[in-house]
Amino acid sequence: MKLCVLGSGSQGNSIVVSSGETTLMVDIGFTCKQIVSRMASSGLDPEDVSAVLFTHDHSDHFKGVKTFHKKYPDASLFANGNTADSIASQTGVEDWTIFETAEEFQIGDFSVSPFSISHDAADPVGYFLHDGANSLFIGTDMGVVTFPVKDAFLRADIAILESNHDPELLMMSDRAYSLKQRISGRSGHLANRDAANLFRETNPANLKALFLAHLSSECNRPHLAMEEMLEAIREHNREDINLHVLEQDVPSMIFEF
Ligand SMILES: [Zn+2]
Ligand SMILES: [Zn+2]
Repeated sequence: MKLCVLGSGSQGNSIVVSSGETTLMVDIGFTCKQIVSRMASSGLDPEDVSAVLFTHDHSDHFKGVKTFHKKYPDASLFANGNTADSIASQTGVEDWTIFETAEEFQIGDFSVSPFSISHDAADPVGYFLHDGANSLFIGTDMGVVTFPVKDAFLRADIAILESNHDPELLMMSDRAYSLKQRISGRSGHLANRDAANLFRETNPANLKALFLAHLSSECNRPHLAMEEMLEAIREHNREDINLHVLEQDVPSMIFEF
């Protein structure tokens, strides 16, 4: 499995994962121009994308869909019904393949298992992807960890997990009271400690790489997210796990597993 995160955070999200034969994209949260240039800088070709899977209908996850779909119509767009309806009404893109949340389906080499998450969107999901050799957990934009999240995380070889904010920095920030409530609420975003506690409680036996994602630029610091997770990793003597913090402005390197 090859993995490249084109960018992660409230300004845009997109992940490219490939088995070699089949290439999937998860979310198109940058303009098409940005997606294409970020892929090019990583040596990736948008023409190779077989399908795009959407997590939810917030613009930092679908911003570039209209232009991308026009330029690369061979990449099928996948979402559950409510998410597709909502993105369609915001972008005019009507050409969707609809799946049921919590029902597994196949795209080329990948088995795709969408699972429900708690977030203030139409019908948000995370994904558990398996290419026959490795499994990948993708879980961002959730206010609380629920059973389907734990269950998928527990089985992952590789995980992209939200570590959005530090509660103290969030409290001290000059954001409106209502926004602070939204971010820290049950349908908001995971705090660093929440992400670390998911690891603490599950200690996934096969996990070899963990990517901390969707960090708030104002209410988090990479070293805070890293330290919080490292503490949990050390408690289980799992220093063998490769821990990375994903960035908003530049794509990650291409990781091969
Ligand atoms: Zn988001
Ligand atoms: Zn969101």
